[in-house]
Amino acid sequence: MSFQVFGMPVSRGVAIGRAVLVASSRVDVAHYFVAVEQAEEEIGRLRSARDAVAQELTTLKRDLPPEAPQELAALLDVHLMLLHDDAITEATKAWIVDRHYNAEWALSAQLEVLARQFDEMEDAYLRERKADVEQVVERLLLAMAAQGKGGAAAASALAMPGLPGEHPLVLVANDVAPADMLQFKRSIFTGFVTDVGGRTSHTAIVARSLDIPAVVGAREASHLIRQDDWVIIDGDAGVVIVNPSPIVLEEYRFRQRQSELERARLDRLRHTPAITLDGEAVELLANIELPDDAAVALAAGAMGVGLFRSEFLFMNRGGSLPTEDEQFEAYRAAVVAMRGLPVTIRTVDIGADKPLERMSAQELRHEHGLNPALGLRAIRWSLSEPGMFRQQLRALLRASAFGRVRVLIPMVAQMSEVHATLEALARVKQQLDDAGRPYGSIELGAMVEVPAAALMIDRLLQHFDFVSIGTNDLIQYTLAIDRADEAVSHLYDPWHPAVLQLLYQTIQAALAAGRGVSVCGEMAGDPMFTELLLGMGLRSFSMHPARIAAVKQRVLRSDARAVVGCLPGLLAAASPEAEARALGWARVLN
Ligand code: PEP
Ligand code: MG
Repeated sequence: MSFQVFGMPVSRGVAIGRAVLVASSRVDVAHYFVAVEQAEEEIGRLRSARDAVAQELTTLKRDLPPEAPQELAALLDVHLMLLHDDAITEATKAWIVDRHYNAEWALSAQLEVLARQFDEMEDAYLRERKADVEQVVERLLLAMAAQGKGGAAAASALAMPGLPGEHPLVLVANDVAPADMLQFKRSIFTGFVTDVGGRTSHTAIVARSLDIPAVVGAREASHLIRQDDWVIIDGDAGVVIVNPSPIVLEEYRFRQRQSELERARLDRLRHTPAITLDGEAVELLANIELPDDAAVALAAGAMGVGLFRSEFLFMNRGGSLPTEDEQFEAYRAAVVAMRGLPVTIRTVDIGADKPLERMSAQELRHEHGLNPALGLRAIRWSLSEPGMFRQQLRALLRASAFGRVRVLIPMVAQMSEVHATLEALARVKQQLDDAGRPYGSIELGAMVEVPAAALMIDRLLQHFDFVSIGTNDLIQYTLAIDRADEAVSHLYDPWHPAVLQLLYQTIQAALAAGRGVSVCGEMAGDPMFTELLLGMGLRSFSMHPARIAAVKQRVLRSDARAVVGCLPGLLAAASPEAEARALGWARVLN
């Protein structure tokens, strides 16, 4: 039966493929294809994991103390029985052989199928047996991780351009953490759907940087969609169509081809300078998450990196933090890859929806109990870990010997944070001088992400070479809307008069002070806001590389002088969005 699920569009285009349902807790399970001749090896891995778990359960049962309740032994028997049940073993093999999934993926795919079957059982006792199946699968996954063979095969398999008979795949999950999303950078999925999340949650941001169609906040999607269903993700409208009729499928295939043609057309703008109709040059920069993205930025025609979210270097490391040398290598790699163009690296913005694995129990309690977006995040976190902060500053300074490094401080809200940052920087320079280590000259910038920073912009500008406006957070904190919460996402409004006022004030103050100013939030990469920002005086936009061409097209068609004239009316309007539509600014073309 065909049906639709509605959510929020976060990354444009159309994806058509088979659904792969992944439990949130298992998103980090490796997903890759294995070649036909490797299938036996994968089945072998599954078999040894099964033998190891069988051994483990038998030992557990044998060593049960006499006073242990009888039920425990019975439960272990059930688990042993499940371990050898065809519904797990044979069915998992089928995913490996027929669909070319690696063993871990095959196992979690089969678990999703079984979990559904249990959920639909009338009998409450039987329904509860789902937990047993989950536990057995969990043990198998752990055993396979202990064998530690997946990684190398995964790396080679990801490079494989699909296997005969393979269909494109789309990922459906309740939620995906930003760190896990990062692992999908080179993944096999052609689209994403998640139940939760807002348009500017970090999960959505990473999805957008992958430049594949995605819908978040689709509420019940992961319950309604089944493993292997055919799914169309309409990333423009935020609609997911499940098991479409042939006519609908044909229509979307047509749209898919159209959007590919449009992309190819936009690609041709790559080397065209971004200059408005009246001759104003506009700098289009890239937002990146990892040093490897620098190549993508250059290929997209970026004139530099406007935001390197360094916190992603701190993720997926099993709780350890990158050393100074590791950080230095990563920053240097990005700087060298950008060939003399400026690279703006933000000091870690840990916290809120980007927690660190190694966060202490107390911090995690805070994460879950109180509001993490108002807690220890970004510069607050760095200043609470002074050793770590200095380590990062040293790595950044050392990388500046290899090119143009601009250091950006996230979420500045207090003058005391400014002073502490400057002190840390001075101390670190002294340390490098003492050690005779070379470093270049860096520019220092502050992110304007909280209303406090926008309201005291003049004071901030006395200490910084440039500011970068993080509209994702500025909107969140101005309107008191959690950017990751789909329940209030309809109120998350970039056109809100208060947001526009703060944006305008900040840009104008920076220009008057002769300091650099750029916008690196998602607004910068959305052509709907290009004229608005040009009208406010902005000439530097930082966005995902994939958005550069579309924004450039808008710049090429804009007249900066004309938009300035319209700005006062728009800022004074009761509904700036309606005003912008009337002016033809807020049109969505790309
Ligand atoms: C922002 O807040 O707009 C921003 C660019 O930072 P992040 O999205 O990483 O919070
Ligand atoms: Mg931010």
